[in-house]
Formats: sequence, structure tokens, C-alpha cells
Amino acid sequence: LRTEGLTKIYGKGQNEVVALNNATITIGAGEFMSIVGPSGSGKSTLLHLLSGLDRPTKGRVFIGEKDLYALNEKDLSAFRRKSFGFIFQQFNLIPILTAEDNINMPILLDRKQPDKEYLKELSEMLEIKDRLIHLPHELSGGQQQRVAIARALIAKPDIIFADEPTGNLDSKSGSEVMKLLTSTSRQFGKTLIIITHDKKIAGLADRQLSIIDGMVQEVN
Ligand code: ADP
Ligand code: ADP
Repeated sequence: LRTEGLTKIYGKGQNEVVALNNATITIGAGEFMSIVGPSGSGKSTLLHLLSGLDRPTKGRVFIGEKDLYALNEKDLSAFRRKSFGFIFQQFNLIPILTAEDNINMPILLDRKQPDKEYLKELSEMLEIKDRLIHLPHELSGGQQQRVAIARALIAKPDIIFADEPTGNLDSKSGSEVMKLLTSTSRQFGKTLIIITHDKKIAGLADRQLSIIDGMVQEVN
């Protein structure tokens, strides 16, 4: 993943906010990158631009040779479904579906057949094998997030984006979730890009980017 002069400006005139200022970033395939910075510094804006959820004011995002924002809406949305997995702070599970059906949702939305073997492998790695027939409210926060991680991985995307994945968890289940997220991502060779406030979690990554007032810098 590579960006060139990525810039996002919200508002106009006196209300103008430069949320992201001319960011040029390269993230290698299979790398684990964390993005840290205070509230309002531009972390979500950067994540949204990298993952095709929002359009930049200036600059470009390349995934391999693909110029993300040169795609029309339909192709962009198809590319996102194929190439990206998302994990959120609020687990965003569908309350009336079992863990297994939640995990398979990206496959079902694409009108493909669920891959039972891969689901078994993922749920073993994420330690939720015995929870697959349960509804989200029957699971702990950590278990719900592990279901959400399996859902992010099930369609075999290349890149996983996670926005404060442990923000709703206590520190013990938070570190458990992070351990399983990183080991599962590495096992399957995924690129992992996470936003976090937590310095300890940021430190687990191969590389760290810090953002302050929309300016991105690599932390050494
Ligand atoms: P973070 O994720 O680090 O908390 P954000 O990327 O959400 O930061 O926000 C960066 C800056 O852009 C902040 O000053 C925020 O107020 C502003 N911002 C974010 N979204 C919008 C929007 N839709 N309209 C106007 N300003 C916005
Ligand atoms: P929060 O910052 O409150 O934790 P989330 O991480 O759940 O919010 O969501 C971040 C942003 O991504 C929100 O603007 C939300 O609307 C958007 N979003 C959430 N789920 C999806 C999805 N499946 N596809 C596209 N956008 C999404």
C-alpha cells in the first residue's frame, strides 16, 4: 500500500480543517503498522482514505498497481469487498445472527458458498470454536471482537484495517484480542493496519506512524 501526497481538507474558508496534510506513506505486504495520535489528530481520516471509505481532497492511494480513487464507485466498492477486511471499536455484529452467520456475512453478501474448512481453522485460531452457535449477546466483549476478527478475515482479504479494536475491552481481554489478531494475521500473511490510543498496543507493530494535527511521521 502506497500513498502520494494524501490530503484531506474538511469545510471551507474560516471553517477549513486540514485533517490530513500531504501524507506519503508506504506499507509493505504482510506488515503490521500502527497509527497513533491524540483525539482529533486525523487517525480516522487517514484510515478511511487508505481503505477507500472516503475520497481525498488531493493525493493518491495505490494498492499494488491499483490507483484506488481512479476507480468508479461500483468498482471501488467491489475492490474493497475483495481486498479489505474491517474491524471496529464497536464490534458491529448483527444481534439476531449466530457467531457463525456473522462470520460468514461477507461471503453471503457476495453470494458465494461459505468455506467450512477455513471457518473451522479461523475459529480454532481465534479460540471461538465452541461459541459459533451463540448469539452476540451471549458472548463476552473479547469473544465478540474475536468473532468480528474472523468476519474480517473470512473472505481472505489482503489488508485488515482496525479502528481502536480494543477500545471497548478491559485491558486483559484487550491484550488477548491483540495477541490473537496479530498471530492470526501473521499466520495468513495479512497486512494489518490499526489505529490505537494505547502505546503498549502500538508497540506490538512492526512500524508505527504518529499523527499530530494531520501531519504524519514515522516513529522510530
Ligand atoms: P481522530 O480519528 O484522530 O480522532 P479525525 O480524523 O476524526 O481524528 O479528525 C481529524 C480532524 O478533522 C478533526 O479536527 C475533526 O474535527 C475534523 N473532521 C473529521 N471529520 C470531519 C467532517 N466530516 N467535517 C469536518 N471536520 C471533520
Ligand atoms: P467508532 O469510531 O465510533 O468506533 P466505527 O469504528 O464503528 O466507529 O466506524 C468508523 C467509521 O466507519 C464510521 O464512519 C462508520 O460509519 C464507518 N463504517 C462502519 N462500518 C462500515 C462498513 N461495513 N462499511 C463502510 N463503512 C463502515
